[in-house]
Amino acid sequence: MTSKAATWTGAEPLQAFFDSAPCGLLSSSSNGTVLAVNDTFLEWTGYDRDALVGRSHFDELLTLPSRMYYETHYWPLLNIQGFVHEVALDLRHRQGHTIPVLVSAGSERSSKGEVKLLRYAVIAAQDRRAYERELLLQRRNSEQAVKAKADFLAMFAHEIRNPLCAVMLQAEHLELELETLVQDKPPYWSMREPLDRVLRLLNNMLDISKLDAKKVTLQKTEFEIGDVVRAVVHSLQPLAEARNLPLHMHIDRALQNPVVGDPMKLDQALTNLVGNAIKFTEKGSVSVRASRLPPIDHCVRVRFDVVDTGLGIAPDRQARIFEEFEQADSSTSHHFGGTGLGLAITRKLVELQGGRLSLVSELGQGSTFMFELTFDPSPQPSR
Ligand code: ADP
Repeated sequence: MTSKAATWTGAEPLQAFFDSAPCGLLSSSSNGTVLAVNDTFLEWTGYDRDALVGRSHFDELLTLPSRMYYETHYWPLLNIQGFVHEVALDLRHRQGHTIPVLVSAGSERSSKGEVKLLRYAVIAAQDRRAYERELLLQRRNSEQAVKAKADFLAMFAHEIRNPLCAVMLQAEHLELELETLVQDKPPYWSMREPLDRVLRLLNNMLDISKLDAKKVTLQKTEFEIGDVVRAVVHSLQPLAEARNLPLHMHIDRALQNPVVGDPMKLDQALTNLVGNAIKFTEKGSVSVRASRLPPIDHCVRVRFDVVDTGLGIAPDRQARIFEEFEQADSSTSHHFGGTGLGLAITRKLVELQGGRLSLVSELGQGSTFMFELTFDPSPQPSR
């Protein structure tokens, strides 16, 4: 033993501490010849001490693939760095079977920097590997399940949407004809409204299945943030007017220059949020804000806020309303309609653009939905 052994003060003898460690311990000379090995290592691998010490090299105790990995990656790294932590390798038992392990190693060098000896700590990894295999399998299964669900939804929505569009067209004709024949509106006048709802649901299902299956890609186009905000407000103004709600917008003057991004996805996300804000607000107002944030690496950072003075959302429901088919309160879905897919789609659209949708809300006071996005500046000169 080295001089350190002489200063060993543990109550347990150093040799017993070394031999019974719950990991395999081994040291070798710079050329790899085994110098010392503990009992745990011998027990795991089935060798006698005499068969290893002075005779074997550490890499000879590995399976062929691990030996190749050791020679091409492990050893060069150990040589350069002086240590390697917890790399998965397979030892070969004397009787031929494989022992999965994690191997850490460190080298001791002379004052001239030459490797004097190498020390290895070997941790049993059978359970960990089985657990990792199990996790991998579960992940593969759940990915397949998500894909199967997305494919099914897409097929289902597609198959229903086309005949539904035909029915809607017929309903439109029928209503026009009835209008000319009958003075008072007949009771089935509202026929198109439920059909519209089903179509919205199908379109949402198609959107979510495409987003889940990662079939939606980002476009890169030059556009002005203000144009998108104005278009969203313009398209929803009639809805706000029908509910007697002022709909305001504030576009930061510093956002006049074009940026590069995906205006369609931004439009869809804002339309969903402003549409909800109008739907769930009975008095007060709704406003949309686009504010420029300090740039990072010449990119244009914009914060979008959709603020309403409506129903608000209870704290215990706030995290869940971003999930699919979640509604803050089942009574609101009866009163206001909806499918509980809009926010899930919006969250995914914002995330696709690199942002994160968040919410501040107080029951009875209103809600603010917000997200930040980063855009490349347009290569065109500023206006
Ligand atoms: P829905 O089609 O039901 O509107 P969403 O996913 O868009 O589906 O919204 C989920 C639920 O979140 C809504 O049913 C509603 O309860 C709640 N919610 C969304 N936006 C607002 C808002 N601005 N104010 C109050 N509640 C909201």
